[in-house]
Amino acid sequence: MSDALWEDLAATLESVAATSSKREKVARLSAYLRQLPEPVLPVACVYLTGRVLPPGHPHKLQIGWAAVVEVLQDLSGASDREVADLYLRWGDLGDVAAELVARRRTEPLFPERLSILAAHALLERAAAAAGKGAAAARRRALRALLEQARPLEAKYLVRVLTGDLRVGLKEGLLQEAVATAFGAPAEAVRRADLLQSDLGAVAALARRGALQEASLQYFRPFRFMLAGTLSTPEEAFEDAAEVFAEDKYDGVRVQVHCAGGRLALYSRTLDDVTPAFPELHRPLLGVGEAYMADAEVVAWAGARPAPFHRLQQRLRRTDPEAMAGQVPVALFVFDLLRVGDRDLVDFPLEERRRAGEALRWTPPVYLATGRRVRDVAALRQAFQEARARGNEGLVVKRLDAPYQPGRRGRLWLKWKEPLATLDVVVVGVEFGHGKRARVLSDYTFAVRDGDRLRVVGRAYSGLTDAEIQQLTAWFQEHTVRDLGRFRWVEPRVVLEVAFDAVTRSDRHDSGYALRFPRILRVRTDKGPEEISTLEEVESLYLQQAREPPDPSFRPPTGGVP
Ligand code: ATP
Repeated sequence: MSDALWEDLAATLESVAATSSKREKVARLSAYLRQLPEPVLPVACVYLTGRVLPPGHPHKLQIGWAAVVEVLQDLSGASDREVADLYLRWGDLGDVAAELVARRRTEPLFPERLSILAAHALLERAAAAAGKGAAAARRRALRALLEQARPLEAKYLVRVLTGDLRVGLKEGLLQEAVATAFGAPAEAVRRADLLQSDLGAVAALARRGALQEASLQYFRPFRFMLAGTLSTPEEAFEDAAEVFAEDKYDGVRVQVHCAGGRLALYSRTLDDVTPAFPELHRPLLGVGEAYMADAEVVAWAGARPAPFHRLQQRLRRTDPEAMAGQVPVALFVFDLLRVGDRDLVDFPLEERRRAGEALRWTPPVYLATGRRVRDVAALRQAFQEARARGNEGLVVKRLDAPYQPGRRGRLWLKWKEPLATLDVVVVGVEFGHGKRARVLSDYTFAVRDGDRLRVVGRAYSGLTDAEIQQLTAWFQEHTVRDLGRFRWVEPRVVLEVAFDAVTRSDRHDSGYALRFPRILRVRTDKGPEEISTLEEVESLYLQQAREPPDPSFRPPTGGVP
């Protein structure tokens, strides 16, 4: 048989969730993967990452919570109130789906077992639907699946569709399971996955014993290398006599892929954002060679960067052509990852920089400003100059370092104003006061603690009226539970917040609170899986701890549904 049943995938996930032992999780998963027929393996692997389609896939399956709830209500006859109560009880839409599917009013006339490939074909077709009828086509596909699905299948189908499997499967474990299934070294699987960003394709290579064939592929985005934080300028020279001090541009990061007359720009979340920046297309296509680059798009005021919020206006608009005139942008290329058919990721930065210098960039595309520095005085000087050019500060890079996709290490260190910030996700919202009495302007936000979200504070200042208006509309549509003044919302909106201190607090379930939080910006470029963690909050707390930790302290239970 060349297909496999959804039922077995769901049962595997359920059994993976049932054990907390990592070894056991890997063992169960690898046994499942090993017996999958050839065509099913890549599909099932992508599902195990909590996605229907791998990153960079030309289509996106936009089936949101609202659509899932609507179809479930339609099938089961459950009222809004019942759905809200069930959600509050389970705290998970997948569990709600399992329960409501069990209450279906009509059963299919010819019940068939749901197969992975048949279900996937349906979802792929729905993802490819474009234009006016697209949303309806997606709902029809969802309905067709949930009409057939048994409760356990519905639970995991909905979890895959909403992007969170909740079975304690970190990426590393999945990679390990693939390695174990096909007798490959875990490191080789990890590396192949970082280059290909598609665990399904990697699993297929592992099964053939061909992991060494994994390489960067044009138009398949991969994860960005991230920077650690420089606490003192002296630290820059701890492991190197000379470093590269590059301006830190305050914009949004993009990965540029250009080959065969085609161009794509991918965001940090690996989404295709090419249409947002039409004026960059021509200069990027005009380089004359195939290449992949890492770069920052900056709002541009002629010769200097414009404030970051100008760029956000640009990202939100649906008419990029019109916005191009109003908020021009520039692109600063700071790394070259592939030129022609040569992967550069393993080459030292020095050499990648030379590759960047050898290409022809034309305004508004520029190579990032940077220079070699050998001592603290020169580094401070470079920082001041970067600030004078209107940039945030520096990213201090090791000249001998490879490009490490998906890693945050000490090979790149960012140095900006000495102000701690955290990226948090909004989980609850409330109407404001006075002129903000009609808008949802008061935000309760959380950080990540493994699979859970933990509230660390509330903020209500820092955004413009227009931003609040837009967010209000979004929160109204994505409310999970409406409690009158306050409502729990889908954890999707990421904010960057600044604050003065972290304190111990029994007000929130994280056990911490941020003192005087203010919103710096909405991070449309970041997804909720990329937010700061409770560990970061703890370590900030410990760094500034003037008060000794209280061993009897226990945070309250409950928290984000
Ligand atoms: P931040 O909020 O400080 O931008 P972050 O969490 O978004 O941090 P980090 O990797 O920690 O991401 O910080 C580096 C970010 O700085 C990159 O994601 C990139 O968008 C931006 N950046 C600007 N200029 C450069 C540069 N020259 N080299 C690398 N990254 C740069």
